[in-house]
Amino acid sequence: MNKPIYLDNAATTQISEKALNTFSLFSREMFYNPSSSSSQSILIKNKMEEARECVAKAIGASNKKQIIFTSGATESNNIAIASGTKRKGEYVFSSGEHPSVFQVAKQLQQNGNVVHFCPLDAHGCIDLDALKVLLNENTMFLSTIFVNNETGAINPLKEIFELKKTLAPKALWHIDGVQALNKILFSVSEIGCDFMTFSAHKIHGPKGVGILYAKQVEKLSKLFLGGEQENNLRAGTENVPGILTLPDILLNSAEILKHQNHVAALKQEFERIVYEHLEVSSNANNASPYILSLSVGAPIQGETLQRLLDSQGIIIGTGSACSSKKSGNRVLEAMGINKQTMLSSVRISFSYFNTLEEIAFAANALVQACKQLKVFGEKS
Ligand code: PMP
Repeated sequence: MNKPIYLDNAATTQISEKALNTFSLFSREMFYNPSSSSSQSILIKNKMEEARECVAKAIGASNKKQIIFTSGATESNNIAIASGTKRKGEYVFSSGEHPSVFQVAKQLQQNGNVVHFCPLDAHGCIDLDALKVLLNENTMFLSTIFVNNETGAINPLKEIFELKKTLAPKALWHIDGVQALNKILFSVSEIGCDFMTFSAHKIHGPKGVGILYAKQVEKLSKLFLGGEQENNLRAGTENVPGILTLPDILLNSAEILKHQNHVAALKQEFERIVYEHLEVSSNANNASPYILSLSVGAPIQGETLQRLLDSQGIIIGTGSACSSKKSGNRVLEAMGINKQTMLSSVRISFSYFNTLEEIAFAANALVQACKQLKVFGEKS
């Protein structure tokens, strides 16, 4: 079977060769439990501390103790929210949050807490004017995704920080950084957030490895009771082989910029081909170069297009892999996008390993598929 052209990298990515070798080495040969006391275990424990240091450096944390390894960003988000909502008061979530944040917010609301969902603007970013109205002295927690996983919209973190500082000084601030890591230059210390979360499988690492940054670890809640792993902050034997791949996959600033340039060229080429032949619209402007949310227009359904391309070996997404089975798209809806545009949307997400040839092939296939679905008038 020919290798498919994979353009659903916001859902997950292929593990890198280097990471796979590391994963294999620490699963098959050096498989020891870091909490045991053999010399091999101590060696593994030291390796994990090196990985922690590497993560701290990559995200701009001031101390490696601020880094906690988890089973994925879903767990990291859940811990951050539980930690940030221990104090009674008002909680504010953007309407663009990933389900692993949004569903927890909904549950907090159902449990009788005061939860506000801040609307998005037409580009998919948090609406700053609306946020201004929602933040106050009584706000204890604020959650704003960094890069939206459906649209690629990048939230204005500097402006959010200023509003939070002046209007909601008591609020702890959580940022889901999953789609930003390795893709945008940032430093958690400079941003000034209290929690940020990440996931290895979005950046060519294995699944089941999450990172939680906490500015003050003493504020963390424990979701699980058990052993004293992770400085007694997160019980359960660590995913050692997975964690030890992190130094292999985290990029330095120069590499991030190099990857960004390559991926921006891919996105530009995809858009050029598609816009030349079809009446389509992009759902978010000024978005991350890694994600393109495109509406191909009525009456084509994004899912039909996705299946047609799939049968030709081209894999794209229709939205978040975590919510694709539900009808509609909560994030696009929050941007004020009408139902028909929403239903005809697809998500194309790139990786550094995609080539221009793949992009040209996939974009032309998408054009043909849309024509085949006999709904498009060509641009005159
Ligand atoms: N947040 C965002 C923005 C994501 O894209 C994802 C993955 N879809 C998650 C959280 C959840 O990550 P994980 O799969 O590691 O639980």
